[in-house]
This record gives sequence, structure tokens and C-alpha cells, in this order.
Amino acid sequence: MIDLHTHSTRSDGTDAPADLLAQAAQAGLTTLAITDHDTTAGWDEAAEAAQRHGVALVRGAELSTRHRGRSVHLLAYLFDPADTPLAEEMRRMREDRVPRLQRIVEHMQDDGFAVTWEGVLAQVQEGAALGRPHLADALVAAGIATDRNEVFNRWLHNGSAYYEPHYAVDTAEAVALVRAAGGVPVVAHPFATKRQRALGADDVAALVEAGLVGIEAEHRDHDDDGRAFARQLAARHDLVVTGSSDFHGDGKDNRLGENTTTPESLERIVAAASGVTPVLG
Ligand code: AMP
Ligand code: FE
Ligand code: FE
Ligand code: ZN
Repeated sequence: MIDLHTHSTRSDGTDAPADLLAQAAQAGLTTLAITDHDTTAGWDEAAEAAQRHGVALVRGAELSTRHRGRSVHLLAYLFDPADTPLAEEMRRMREDRVPRLQRIVEHMQDDGFAVTWEGVLAQVQEGAALGRPHLADALVAAGIATDRNEVFNRWLHNGSAYYEPHYAVDTAEAVALVRAAGGVPVVAHPFATKRQRALGADDVAALVEAGLVGIEAEHRDHDDDGRAFARQLAARHDLVVTGSSDFHGDGKDNRLGENTTTPESLERIVAAASGVTPVLG
């Protein structure tokens, strides 16, 4: 069983990378990808744990990009983490997450929310990529809400008055950067209409032109039509089809392995990569 999209405490997941691998083994996964938002900080700990637990590890990240004004999450697998142009873009996105979240906190404070920046930082592991889920955790810790989902639904969703964007690299540029770093770019949940505007066939075609290798079809935020459309576009452009849980630990209901990727798709991803190799468990 292969799950190619998960998060750890190095971004907005709630399990340390080593715990993520332990849970993957427990769930019967043979291969897991760690794909924290805009960071590779979890790679080393995950690699060590992968060997200990006998789970193959695909090292990756989920990049926050923007395409024609809309937010697009781009999964990047097996790229060279030392590649400077890509690493610089990831650093820029991570760093801009700080003032952006501070702006949201200040706006909520102005409206009377009993939340502090220190309270948010108390929810974040040192060096992690900051995100709205950490603010949500601070609101839960302060007794203002019961879980992340409630916070997002009431105050932090993309259409909310408190929403603030952060710096995001152009998606086509990110696709090219990932390829240049020997990595494999796969567009994440492109038809998840609850969180963002879905991409169109023309958007996907533009990303294919830039070097896109794959498309995530099996994802809980895709309905049946979205999954079918992803498969149709994959057939049209010869893209690799993937499936994943987008596991975030206790931060979301998603269960490891709830959607999976076929061994054939994994083989194509590995064959297309020249940055780093999978860590064999
Ligand atoms: P950000 O990276 O700060 O823009 O925050 C986006 C992240 O929030 C996504 O990667 C999800 O992990 C998380 N998220 C979005 N909606 C929800 C929700 N309803 N419940 C829990 N987490 C969510
Ligand atoms: Fe997330
Ligand atoms: Fe995502
Ligand atoms: Zn994700």
C-alpha cells in the first residue's frame, strides 16, 4: 500500500516524522511520502525511522504556489534538497508565512479574540513551516473552539474576512524548478472545490507544458467527477495518476492509506527522478 502525501510536525501535521513512519508501518503501508508544506526539515528524521520500521520513504514536499491568481498545491518528490533555486523559493515561502500569520492574529485580536502570537508559537515546533492550522490550535488551546475544522469553517477558510495570502511562487515556475532540481512535480488535489477554485483543463495543459509529471486523483477532497476528470486529463497528457491520504495526524480526520497510489505509478515517479532516491525500508 502506497500513500504519497502526508504531513508531520515540520509543517501542520501533528506527528513527528518518526511517529509518522511508525504509524505508516502500523497501518500496513509499504511506501510513504513525507510532503510537508514548503520544507524538507523532516527528511532526515523520517529516513532514519523508515529504515527502522521497514517502510520505504519517498522524500518530498508540498509547495504553496499560485497559478493565474489561484492557490495551487504542488507535490514535489525526490528533488535535490541542496538545489539552490528551489531551496531559495521554499525558504522565501516559509519565511513569508510568519508575517502573514501575524497579520491574521492581529486582525483577530482587533476583533476581540483572546489569542496571542506567543500562544500560536506555543503550538509550533521550532523550525516548522507555520500555517493557519497552528493558529487554529492556539484558538482550541484557549477554549475558543473545539477543533481545527471548526476554526477553519468559522474564521480561517480561504474566503473568510481574516484570510491573508502569503508569498507563493508561480506554479509553472515551480514545476520547472522542481524538474531542474531532479524532482518530480505532481499537482495536488487540483479539483478540491471546497478549499479553492478548481483548476481547468487549460490550467493543467499549461502546467504540462511547463513539465508537470503527475496529477493527484484519489484524494478525499475530490468527488467522483473530480477523480474521473483527473484520470481523463492524465490519459490525455500521459500524466502519472496518484492517490493519497493527505494525513495530518490528529489535525484532520484523514486516515493513512485511505487513498493509495499504484506500484506502477510509483515506479514512473521514481524513474523520472534524479535528485535523491527513495529510502528503502
Ligand atoms: P496555510 O498553509 O496556512 O494556508 O493553511 C492551509 C492548511 O490548512 C492546509 O494545508 C490544511 O492542512 C489545513 N486546513 C484547511 N482546511 C482545514 C480544515 N477544515 N480542518 C483542518 N485543517 C484544514
Ligand atoms: Fe496542511
Ligand atoms: Fe494541500
Ligand atoms: Zn497536503
